[in-house]
Amino acid sequence: MKVALISDIHGNLEALHAVLEDIRQQGIRDIWCLGDVVGYGPNPCECLDRVMKHCALTILGNHDQAALFDPEGFNPVALAAVYWTRDQLDAVGARDQINARWDFLGELPRTHKVDEYLFVHGSPRDPTNEYVFPEDVYNLRKMEGLFSRFEGQCFQGHTHIPGVFPESGDFRAPDECDYEVVLTGDKAMFNVGSVGQPRDGDPRGSYVVLDREQQRVFFRRVEYDFEVTAEKIYRIGELDNMLGDRLKSGR
Ligand code: ZN
Repeated sequence: MKVALISDIHGNLEALHAVLEDIRQQGIRDIWCLGDVVGYGPNPCECLDRVMKHCALTILGNHDQAALFDPEGFNPVALAAVYWTRDQLDAVGARDQINARWDFLGELPRTHKVDEYLFVHGSPRDPTNEYVFPEDVYNLRKMEGLFSRFEGQCFQGHTHIPGVFPESGDFRAPDECDYEVVLTGDKAMFNVGSVGQPRDGDPRGSYVVLDREQQRVFFRRVEYDFEVTAEKIYRIGELDNMLGDRLKSGR
């Protein structure tokens, strides 16, 4: 009845290890990934291998898509990381392993629906690419459009900023709701945050536990050694140093 929802790992193996361990310690076996396993970080292949092994469901993220097809709308730093990631996916491991990773990426669904729950990477309207930022609550048209696309609860990632958007029209960060939200049956969008590149000022890895029995959503934060990940990034010329720096500030 409990499922751990992880997202936006972005090739950060240290953060992924820490989050998987936190999930294991809670006795949760069901892990679903809302996309962006690769991109930005230094260990795309190793992270894909872990996700393929541990996650019962994985949704396609925009960075996963960019590794497969021609990337669109990426800034130069992200684009350089996409091309480096592609080269890694073609080079690391035996031929079977390389093929298995590409097959896995090529078959990822864009959405998944179970009962009253919808799972996407970006938004219920544009599941792979649309961002829903906290400040979007002031854009009533956008929020109405998003809420008209689903019933129940929608779980998403993509912005790397965890929190809940109730249909009443505000945004609450995890620390503003004591890291716990009771599901009342009202519509809501939940952002699970990012395992490997948080951007809400808290450098700890972020994920969510959906407890269907208790009808609750728990926001979790997990410490990991971001200095190790940052050092790996600094040693790879194609990955901009700012991608390492931002792990330390969580921005
Ligand atoms: Zn992402």
